[in-house]
Amino acid sequence: MKALVKTSPKQGIWMEDAPEPKCGTNDVKIKITHTAICGTDLHIFNWDEWAKRTLELPLIIGHEFCGVVHEIGPGVTNYQPGQRVSGEGHITCGYCRNCRAGKRHLCHKTIGVGVNRDGAFAEFLVIPESNVFPIHDDIPSEIAAFFDPFGNAVHSALSYEMVGEDVLITGAGPIGIMAVAVCNFVGARNVVITDINDYRLSLAKELGATKIINTSKNSIKEFYTQINMTNGFDVGLEMSGNPDAFNSMLEHMYHGGEIALLGLLPKSTSINWDNIIFKGLKLKGIYGREMFETWYKMTQMLKSGLDISKVLTHRLSIDNFEKAFDIIKSGNCGKVVLEW
Ligand code: NAD
Ligand code: ZN
Repeated sequence: MKALVKTSPKQGIWMEDAPEPKCGTNDVKIKITHTAICGTDLHIFNWDEWAKRTLELPLIIGHEFCGVVHEIGPGVTNYQPGQRVSGEGHITCGYCRNCRAGKRHLCHKTIGVGVNRDGAFAEFLVIPESNVFPIHDDIPSEIAAFFDPFGNAVHSALSYEMVGEDVLITGAGPIGIMAVAVCNFVGARNVVITDINDYRLSLAKELGATKIINTSKNSIKEFYTQINMTNGFDVGLEMSGNPDAFNSMLEHMYHGGEIALLGLLPKSTSINWDNIIFKGLKLKGIYGREMFETWYKMTQMLKSGLDISKVLTHRLSIDNFEKAFDIIKSGNCGKVVLEW
């Protein structure tokens, strides 16, 4: 089968002829129709420090996908060939304390599809039945292809009470932009988003941001009066992974505020702890999606009117994967979806 494979420990990704994965007991084999590129895939493409210490090669990459059930293994009871599905890319052990408590997103033995085992940028993907998620008829496959990062946005945004609150999102990457739409949908008063990229900020505006702030040109403080806010933000969603952005968020939070940390901050990030301690801030790390409550909420919000379609800015054929990676590298894009 056709697959995008990281074959060599150097920059790049290559289209190879790979063996089809076998569908074992309790496994579902999915014929991939749409995939989306994640920042993680770019780290793997670039072969940076994280990729070097994490990956074993060769590896089929990719974990954002939608497809159709092609085959079911012995023991599979909930899916039939022909059904449209996506799936959770975090494969959990099922037996640790957290898994058994129904908190699979906190499993300490999580294995990543397209990172620790072969991924979805291929004609076929095999994952356990328990990781498959059915896609509702009303939801287009090109949107379901990026349920994984949409789930990061939903998991973060639904971590705290939003109704009537002033929300600051740092980082208008695809996840920050989708979080704007989710915060609005669940009743935030103001949703302010920062970035240093005007293309992405204007996309965030289209998805409903109250204010967009390019922090390389303007300060957050200048906008307080424009949004009728006096003391600072109630909820913060850190979605840039940038230490300066995180520090500015801490500075502009109101006392008692709550922050969800999704962006991957460097180990060297130093912060003014006074902002957390004396303001009594609450911080929560976000990893992945809640299984499968986040997936349920994503589906139901889309069915009841949440519109994230504008975040999908580029559709290409898989044969143009090199161009797709160039678009991601440029930063002038939302989600980039590849059709198989
Ligand atoms: P992305 O890299 O596309 O977006 C990050 C955005 O932050 C970019 O638009 C960038 O211009 C912006 N940025 C850079 N410096 C900034 C600054 N000083 N102030 C404001 N914005 C700034 O990433 P994404 O796919 O949207 O993901 C967001 C973050 O979440 C990334 O750090 C990613 O690695 C991380 N992530 C975490 C998880 C998890 O499970 N915790 C899952 C997926 C992604
Ligand atoms: Zn576990």
